[in-house]
Amino acid sequence: MTTKRILSGMRPTGKLHLGNLHGALKNWVNLQNDDRYECFYFVADWHALTSDYSDTGQILDNVTDMVIDWLSVGLDPEKSTLFVQSRIIEHAELFLLLSMITPLPWLERNPTYKEIKEELSNRDLSTFGFLGYPVLQAADIIIYKAHGVPVGVDQLPHVELTREIARRFNFLYREIFPIPEPLISDVPKLLGIDGRKMSKSYGNSIYISDTGNELNKKILSMFTDPQRQRKSDPGRPELCNVFSFHQLYSDDSSIGEIDVECRRAGIGCIECKKRLAARITEGLQTVHERQEYYRGHIKEVLEIIENGTARASGIARATMAEVREAVKI
Ligand code: SF4
Repeated sequence: MTTKRILSGMRPTGKLHLGNLHGALKNWVNLQNDDRYECFYFVADWHALTSDYSDTGQILDNVTDMVIDWLSVGLDPEKSTLFVQSRIIEHAELFLLLSMITPLPWLERNPTYKEIKEELSNRDLSTFGFLGYPVLQAADIIIYKAHGVPVGVDQLPHVELTREIARRFNFLYREIFPIPEPLISDVPKLLGIDGRKMSKSYGNSIYISDTGNELNKKILSMFTDPQRQRKSDPGRPELCNVFSFHQLYSDDSSIGEIDVECRRAGIGCIECKKRLAARITEGLQTVHERQEYYRGHIKEVLEIIENGTARASGIARATMAEVREAVKI
């Protein structure tokens, strides 16, 4: 059976939250456990510079922390190649070559460009690096001749741009790159505790590492159905973020009970949230145990990164030899 190569990365901008876990990492773990795929996952530390270029002090620590979180949620270095982007200099070389052939309007029309600029309006993102990051992303993907890129629907334009760039390279020089397909995962809609998109920059995230009081406090402050002002008001679970989390962390009979009791005002939101906090604590117990183990075994984590990076590097070097030959440079 021929395996398909999967490639995905994440920016090391700090602790991972439950949005990252359910929006991407669970899917990464499922893909690694599927024999049809060969998975490569990388820490996109150069991408972190696109928005955090003026404050780089945390990036190195964040890289290690992120790999610890990956291992803790079940990524297995025996099955997945885990590596760090900036250690493989060939990504930058391919980025440069691709930037020569990428028309500027392709980047300017990228919908997330405007969206992130607005989201991070406190930072000056009028840089060449920020406009050009989809080209770096394309280099990250095609340098491994990836067949599939796991993404949420909102990231589809990025994969489309990568496909356009790969096609353009193949047309101008030589057919080197497979055209990668997006692998769309069914991502549950989880919002932050204030009802906006869960994001570190909004300060509304529940982190994978949150425990005890920290976790309880966040869950108790979560927005619920806005029409449910008092306990005697019937609620609409389908409009409540707390209920979305119950659907991931509680068993079917508890979900059914909350659904019924909320609608007939038989359960209060505080009780509902307390139950959720207990379920999330249980659900993350193994993750927390593994986090503790890897934090105490940093050498092992660094070795995993070294081995994965060496493996990825061999593939990137071989691709670049072909690319240089094709470009005649
Ligand atoms: Fe949401 Fe639970 Fe309150 Fe219903 S009872 S509105 S599901 S928090």
